[in-house]
Amino acid sequence: FDSPKPINEPVLSYRKNSEEKKALKEELKNLISQTIKIPLIIGGEEVYTEKQMKCIVPHDKNHVLGYCSVAGEKEADLAIKAAISAKNEWNSLSWNDRQSIFLKAASLLSTKYRAVVNAATMLAQSKTVYQAEIDAVCELCDFLRFNVKYLDQIYASQPLSDEYTWNKSIYRALEGFVLAVSPFNFTSIAANLPAAPAMAGNTVIWKPASASVYSSYYIMKLLIEAGLPPGVINFVPGKGSEIGKRFLTCPNLAGVHFTGSTKVFRGMWKVIGENIDNYKTYPRIVGETGGKDFIFAHSSASIKALVAAMIRGGFEYQGQKCSAASRVYIPESIWFDVKEHLLNETGKIKMGDVEDFSNFMGALIDEEAFIKVTRYIQYAKESNEAKILIGGHWDDGSGYFVEPTVIQTSNPKFITMEEEIFGPVLTVYVYDDKKLEETLKLCDKTSGYALTGAIFSQNPTITALMSKILANAAGNFYINDKPTGAVVGRQPFGGARHSGTNDKAGSMLNMLRWMSPLTVKESF
Ligand code: GLU
Repeated sequence: FDSPKPINEPVLSYRKNSEEKKALKEELKNLISQTIKIPLIIGGEEVYTEKQMKCIVPHDKNHVLGYCSVAGEKEADLAIKAAISAKNEWNSLSWNDRQSIFLKAASLLSTKYRAVVNAATMLAQSKTVYQAEIDAVCELCDFLRFNVKYLDQIYASQPLSDEYTWNKSIYRALEGFVLAVSPFNFTSIAANLPAAPAMAGNTVIWKPASASVYSSYYIMKLLIEAGLPPGVINFVPGKGSEIGKRFLTCPNLAGVHFTGSTKVFRGMWKVIGENIDNYKTYPRIVGETGGKDFIFAHSSASIKALVAAMIRGGFEYQGQKCSAASRVYIPESIWFDVKEHLLNETGKIKMGDVEDFSNFMGALIDEEAFIKVTRYIQYAKESNEAKILIGGHWDDGSGYFVEPTVIQTSNPKFITMEEEIFGPVLTVYVYDDKKLEETLKLCDKTSGYALTGAIFSQNPTITALMSKILANAAGNFYINDKPTGAVVGRQPFGGARHSGTNDKAGSMLNMLRWMSPLTVKESF
């Protein structure tokens, strides 16, 4: 059977008096007025542990949304058992039965659960309504619907046969379980990490990041309501340092689906390397990690488009996207105009509680992020190679607020041009127009990451030159647009170098990683 043709979920406007706005406001009130208890979900059973962690609101840090159970080694072992014992039954379902669960989950998300998942993401991750809507609802619906289609296409892909032989590819699930370790910054990515391998017939252990446990829990409930059988995805919040090794060293580990920091990913890879003799099969390791994403402008750039990309790419969701613009190269000849426009627009940005829909930015995710980001700004303040053009202040009185900050540096290798900050900080390096090629090469050699990058030029010859020199500096390359906001089905997302294994989230390439094809030759 052919599955429904996927379309991208429409982004709702949340205009004044709209139905969606009313429903969302209601749900925000509702979630704020209660403190929930979040269990682990193992083999379909709710498991409450003595150890608990707090789910807070980053822009109102004393407000507790819930308490979440924390898995220890005992629960980790239970989850492994549950995943392994659910496998046969899950595999015995027909592909159509499995896919209809995920399509139903997408329908529930776009209707009944839309308000609550958005509200949970706004509160627990401090996302504005627009950022929550494009992530938690639209991108997640898209992942679910498009991945179903990609799987269909993979299953349909068969080798040649003739009248004497029948050759077949049977796309089996991996042997063992898949570990999904998800980040705080995207509810959609958090859910896609377990959902993609599960769709392909695997059973999964899902360890969400602490700061997004709250929204992930609502997604888990939605998947169960859509019909996901017990044990197919086991929801196991906990500390990586306490339970990570339990999963990673298990002989039945068949794959890792990860989004998060480069450091954690490398640590996981090392543990797997050290244990390589113990596995039943080589674990598939798929990871999307850090970025130090650039915007590179030529003198022919549209200044309006360039500045919009700097503001949106750098400051939306407080710069906490792996794809966020953070180092910018501007030629001297247009810097005066760019600067004027940039400072003017940055100065207008409103930051505060995301429950006030007019704010463009919320707070950073937690204290650790706040300390890290403010240290970089402080470093720039004290350096004679940099100056703060705008912003540079912070306040953690009620929540983890850091102003959108623009730094200008005279050193293209300055620390804020090299290291991932994960906050609302843009560093600008102004280059000599005559040194375009040299500066492009320098941009390619800065940071070691290669996730996203954007170039701005209205001169096709120059665009071609820039694209050529920067061809390996990104996994997602934008021409005259911001480097964030990849859409499933349109711009498959992922980076190379230190930014990940580039197995493009929401693509056929990614889905193939969760299968172990069997080739059968039958002779007549
Ligand atoms: N896919 C997101 C984007 O295009 C970024 C994902 C991430 O931060 O991990 O902006």
